[in-house]
Amino acid sequence: MKLDEILTHLGEERALYFNAIAPPIIQTSNFAFETIDEMRAAFADELSHHIYTRGNNPTVEILRKKIAALELAEDALVVGSGASAIAAAVLANIMAGDHIICVQKPYSWTYKLLTQFLTKYNVEHTFVDGTSIQHIIDARKSNTKVLLLESPNSLTFELQDLAACAAFAIQHDIITIIDNSHASPLFQQPIKYGIDIVVHSATKYLNGHSDVVAGVICASKPMINKIFNGELMTLGLTISPHDANLIIRGLRTFPLRVQRSDETARKVAEFLYNHPRVEKIYFPLHHSFAQYELAKRQMSGCGGLITIKLKAETKEEVYRFVAAINCFLMAVSWGGYESLMIPSLVFHDMPGGMPDSPIHWTTVRLYIGLEESAFLVEDLSNALDQM
Ligand SMILES: *Cc1c(COP(=O)(O)O)cnc(C)c1O
Repeated sequence: MKLDEILTHLGEERALYFNAIAPPIIQTSNFAFETIDEMRAAFADELSHHIYTRGNNPTVEILRKKIAALELAEDALVVGSGASAIAAAVLANIMAGDHIICVQKPYSWTYKLLTQFLTKYNVEHTFVDGTSIQHIIDARKSNTKVLLLESPNSLTFELQDLAACAAFAIQHDIITIIDNSHASPLFQQPIKYGIDIVVHSATKYLNGHSDVVAGVICASKPMINKIFNGELMTLGLTISPHDANLIIRGLRTFPLRVQRSDETARKVAEFLYNHPRVEKIYFPLHHSFAQYELAKRQMSGCGGLITIKLKAETKEEVYRFVAAINCFLMAVSWGGYESLMIPSLVFHDMPGGMPDSPIHWTTVRLYIGLEESAFLVEDLSNALDQM
């Protein structure tokens, strides 16, 4: 289905609501029935009926249809955060005694899910360098049930060969799950390569306006039914109709926003690559990236994330760089209209003896928002000069 059809029309049944162009927010907790037979039929398949908003709500349903189509999936669920989307997808596919293979240094709460939460329930994990399929193959045990991918990976953007991962997993009855937040469905559709479940932090590009926290899960109908009747309903992961409506609104401009971030990021990346105070840049579609060929094969764009390694001898230089920046807000998250930065120095020298980040303190992750490239380059140039 065409992107335009998905974003402007799919799922919208305007005749049901006065031919309103923008869908209403069906702000209700429950739905009434006329007869016992109708109510009984609804309970037989709650995901396709409207009984109670913890399950299926008509506003959320419009969004589910659009998200599923964007990821070429049969169906999708929308939940309260990206973290809950990842947790639900994993929990639905493991039991006590199982083993998970996960790419090394995944998103922080994915790391905590495996290392602090699932270990309580006797689920073990192995972190692997996913840049080579051989490392993944070598990590398999007889009880491996899930392969958890993030391509590009957090912070330094290592990729996995998705077709090779899917081929390996299918051969051994392993469920593949990928966090596709970074590339977004605009630039990478993992189901094409045979991946089973695609999850996103919808907080990032899908909503795109830095005003909603949400997550999505995309998969086959049987898998979505399993997660819906299990984790979603039991743990109450649902999103409110109001937030769903904001994401529907955010999606109207999804390709415009993500394309724009991508184009500007390429210009900013080139500027940074050529700057004497920048030691290295991490941007999968830059020719200096270690997996540039795989990136070109697997992704049609990158989006706005660029990590840089500053050429700095002392931490003072990093403090000066950050203090001189005006146009990038220092904040977590990304995927909105505003450019952001997060220096990994934040996670070093932490009070209370927390372990230092495995990422070197000279690195800074930038997110390129919707501003003009010249505006951002001037700011970066000035800050690099003042280091
Ligand atoms: C932000 C993020 C998440 C978590 O999403 P929330 O919506 O904050 O729960 C997961 N994965 C990646 C790659 C992220 O950037």
